[in-house]
Order: sequence, then structure tokens, then C-alpha cells
Amino acid sequence: MNWKDLAVCVAGLGVSGRAAARALAGRGARVTAVDARDDETARGQAAELESHGVTVRLGDGDTLPPGTELVVVSPGWRPDAPLPSAAVAAGVEVYGEVELAWRLRPADAAPWLALTGTNGKTTAVRMLAAVLSAAGRRPLAVGNVGTPIVEAVLDPTYDVLAVELSSYQLHWSSTVAPFAAAVLNVAPDHIDWHGSLDAYAADKGRIYAPGTLAVANADDPVAARLAGASPVAAFTLDVPRPGQLGVVEGLLVDRAFVADPVREAAELAALGDVRPFAPHNVANALAAAALARAFGVPPEAVREGLRAFTPDPHRIAHVMTVGGVHYVDDSKATNPHAAGASLAACESAVWIAGGLLKGADVEDLVRSCAPRLRAVVLLGADRDQIARALARHAPDVPVVDVAATDTGAMDTVVTEASRLARPGDTVLLAPAGASFDMFTSYGARGDAFADAVRRLPDPPDRPG
Ligand code: ADP
Repeated sequence: MNWKDLAVCVAGLGVSGRAAARALAGRGARVTAVDARDDETARGQAAELESHGVTVRLGDGDTLPPGTELVVVSPGWRPDAPLPSAAVAAGVEVYGEVELAWRLRPADAAPWLALTGTNGKTTAVRMLAAVLSAAGRRPLAVGNVGTPIVEAVLDPTYDVLAVELSSYQLHWSSTVAPFAAAVLNVAPDHIDWHGSLDAYAADKGRIYAPGTLAVANADDPVAARLAGASPVAAFTLDVPRPGQLGVVEGLLVDRAFVADPVREAAELAALGDVRPFAPHNVANALAAAALARAFGVPPEAVREGLRAFTPDPHRIAHVMTVGGVHYVDDSKATNPHAAGASLAACESAVWIAGGLLKGADVEDLVRSCAPRLRAVVLLGADRDQIARALARHAPDVPVVDVAATDTGAMDTVVTEASRLARPGDTVLLAPAGASFDMFTSYGARGDAFADAVRRLPDPPDRPG
């Protein structure tokens, strides 16, 4: 690709947008970076980019600069935002940062092991990196946080990239062809952004390029269909058939990447090596193992890597046990599918739920988790939708609506939850919605929960 003098508009001055602008300017492209922000931070970022020869336009993220030949759009931008829409309408090509990284990478670049899915991406990609390290490779987990992928592909320190791809990023990818790839699962999320579940799933399916070794989730029909007719392997929480990785008597086993899958199975790890332990995390571990095995990693490295893996905060994180009640922060459960997975791992839960549902439906979630609910405490913007589903599917479960819509209300939420819980129960923050109605991020929401739990009296005052 000839970048010299190409007129590129980089939309968005976030971390990845700035990395893209710098990389393109370094190749001799004529780069204009645009952003709707025009505050002190944006001006500081603009000055830094200008020192690399980038032209910066602040205060207008909507208008396509005249003469633009290529747009590079930042991950958070909706496909129907004015600027990418104008580009598409004018026949100007649009890349996401991942497409740009793919095209910028040198000929001898590290191969990509990629995964996407509604939930579990960050966990699985970090498990994968841990397994690759245990096998003596030099991996980097990229795609969401940390080093922008545009920089990672140019860094010779790494010999394999474990790439997390969101549906947003895949939407704007056209030639990206990972060595091996997996779609972990597909459930409604970001429907407001993609327009429909079909469009969302189709974007996820773009991870399987021609020539990519496809790893499929045998337990998720929608995700499995995206992998096509002949995946290199599939994973399941059941006993695996030949060609699958799965679970046999407390062990993760591989019946795909062995010499004789009909007669042989390679032992990979014990269920106890998967942390935090929950069925959906076993699925994440199997997906990571399948990608690593497709890449030639030996079975022993899977166990070693999973043991070395440190779970990220706010993902089924045990905060503390007070008066026999376990308080668990799964603030990262920002859609119904994720909340359902963590509720399924609890026997009896006081569920703290609510937030921005982003167009998702909670009927199935509430119906399936109803038998496990001791009580529910609702907070956040779309809590009425959850309340209505509870009234239909769990009419006997006590529901407390603390009408919490401000950050400080978490103390009330946790106090109410502790009042409703019985010893042995789990008070589970798994909101099923995004956090931006009340908090700056899911991390801030989880921290507010954990702080409120630590302020609880021990044992909690409980009438009766
Ligand atoms: P992502 O990067 O896709 O958002 P994370 O690994 O950060 O995924 O996990 C987000 C949340 O999704 C977790 O807190 C957990 O509730 C849920 N989760 C993780 N893995 C799965 C899975 N395989 N299936 C369903 N839910 C999951």
C-alpha cells in the first residue's frame, strides 16, 4: 500500500487514533486528525500530533475534510456517525484501527491469534497470552487496553499477538486475516449501534477470513454458524467428540489437536486451574487453549498458563464475606448475557441489577435466573424494564427499587442487599447494563460497590 501523500482523515484523538495518526504521518501520508472535543486535554494532544506533521481540527468531529482519500475511524465511533457516513456515501474507504494495523504490519510481522464475542474477550485473550508465555513464546495481548495495535504490529519484541477484536473494530475490517480465530459467543449487545442482532453477528463473523483456522463454540449455535462448515476445532463444556476440546471428569481435554482424535485425548488442565471458577470462564479457557493448540503450543503450557493467569478486576471478583454472605463484584457484566453467566454460577443470589440496557431485552435473563434469586435490588436508568420482567417471571422474589441514579446511592443499594441476604447467599453486582448513567465506567461502579461493602457493619444488622 502506498501511503506517501495519501490524504487520510483520522477520526477521533483517543489513544488509538493518535497512534494511527503518528504511524500514518511517519509513512508520509497527509494526515488530518479531527475530534469533537476542544478542551485543554484535546489541545495538548493536538500539539503533540502537530509536532509529527499532523494537521488537527478540533471542535468538529462530523465533517469530512475536503479531499480525504481514506478515513481511519476510532473504535468507539458508530458506523452511522456523520463523518464515516459521509465517507461511505462519497465512496471514500473507511478503516478501523485494526484494518490499518493489518495493512501497516511488516512482511515478517508476528502472526495474530484473534478472538471476539459478546463476552469474555478480555479474559480469554489474557488467558491466551499467559498460555503462549508458558510455551516460551513472546506474546502481547492487544486490542482493547494497553499498547495500541497499530504500535504493537511494528514492535519486533513480540513474536505472536493475542488480539481481542470488538464488533466495532471488526465492522471496519476488510482484509484482516488472523492465523487462527474464535468467536466466543454471540448475544444481544450494542444492538443500538449495529442496527440488528444479525448485523452484529455478521460483524463478529468477519474475524474468520479465508485461510484463518476457525475455532468454533459448539455450545453456541449462533457463534458456531459464523465459523463455517469446517472449523479446525470446536470447544464445548460437554464431553468432547473428536475434533473438539471439552471437559471430562473435572479435566479440560483436547480431542482435536492430537494425532488420533478418535482414540486419543490430551489432558490440558484441571477445572480448578480456571480462575475465577465459573462455567463461562471454563469456556473462555477452552477457547484460549484451542487457539494456542492451533498455533502448536504443547498441552502442558495450557495448564501452566492458566495457573499463571491473574483475573482482571470487576469480573466475578470476590470482595469479602460478611456474616456468611459473599459479596461479588461483576460490574463488567454490562449486558444480560454476561449477567446470566455469573448468576448461573451462584446457587442463591441477591442480585444487584440495572444501568443502561442499550436496547437489550432482559426477559430471557430474568426467566432463566428466577429460581436462583433470593431478592433483587435495582438501580440505574433502565431498572423499570428489569422490574417489569421480574414481575412477570419471578413474582415472589422481593424487589427493592432504591431509585438510585446517583453515584452516592451505592451505600443504600448494598445496605438493602445485605438486609435481604441470608448466610450462604451471594450478593452479586452483575448489572446487565452499562454504567454510564451513574458512573464514569464499570470500574468506578465496581469500586463504589466494593467500598460500600467494606463499610458494612459485621455482622450486618438484619431485622428478625
Ligand atoms: P469482554 O472483554 O468481552 O467485555 P470480559 O472478559 O471483560 O469480556 O468479561 C466481561 C463480563 O462478561 C464478565 O464480567 C462476565 O460477567 C461475563 N463473561 C465472561 N466470559 C463470559 C462468557 N464466556 N460467556 C458469558 N459471559 C461471560
